[in-house]
Amino acid sequence: MEVYEGKAKKVIPLDDGKAIMEFKDDATAFDGSKKARFGGKGWLNAQISAHLFRVLEENGVKTHFIGVAGDNRLIVERLRMYPVEVVVRNVVAGSLKKRLPLREGTELPEPIVELYYKDDSLHDPMINRYHAKILGISESEIREMEKIALRVNEILREYFRKRGITLIDFKLEFGKNERGEIVLGDEISPDTCRFWDAETGESLDKDVFRFDRGNLIDAYERLYQRITGEAPSRRL
Ligand code: ADP
Ligand code: UDP
Repeated sequence: MEVYEGKAKKVIPLDDGKAIMEFKDDATAFDGSKKARFGGKGWLNAQISAHLFRVLEENGVKTHFIGVAGDNRLIVERLRMYPVEVVVRNVVAGSLKKRLPLREGTELPEPIVELYYKDDSLHDPMINRYHAKILGISESEIREMEKIALRVNEILREYFRKRGITLIDFKLEFGKNERGEIVLGDEISPDTCRFWDAETGESLDKDVFRFDRGNLIDAYERLYQRITGEAPSRRL
């Protein structure tokens, strides 16, 4: 496997089944049409992801996370990724407003799970289990990913609630390891989740960049502090 450079991260394979995942300072939104760089974002996302992967592991969820490799790098188990994004939603925001006649901020009676096909040329369309099967992903694999995603939601929703933050929605990616197990991969960060301050409703996530709602690094640092209890120790 060669080095892969994506929009927000680089994946550098190591020769022992592991990989380095390097978080970049680049931000993109609206299908890549809006772009910017924020010094320190890569570090914050790497640290926040590492922290949340540890929380999930402590609660019995299998993740690719092995350790932090300094600054904006994590060491992870290398996976064969499914070309699917699994989105879980607790509260109406973002693209759900175009799908259901519900107002932003409405709490859903139960979480919604959605699947999207990761393909830039098709603009990541929403798919269902039948489409996934055509892409070579079986119904049982999809069920397993959905089950893990809902468990992740239970754990993180409670974790954030205790810290005065509402977990609105988030995106996960899964892959298969060498033993054929389905493992949670990629990142869990304010780039891939929506977090609202439970009191003020302020966004502590990439919506700050999407909708020019203020300073992205300030928002990510505040999130970091709320979840780790520590002031960010490094600002690039
Ligand atoms: P994109 O490819 O959408 O631009 P990124 O810049 O976030 O996204 O690139 C990270 C890539 O690494 C994604 O394609 C993701 O599927 C892949 N990936 C995530 N975790 C692993 C892993 N453990 N092993 C191999 N690849 C991974
Ligand atoms: N998301 C993501 N990557 C994507 C699409 C969505 O990380 O390519 C995350 C997004 O940050 C949000 C959730 O998935 O937390 C739901 O996103 P939505 O479908 O509302 O899309 P948006 O309109 O925000 O791009």
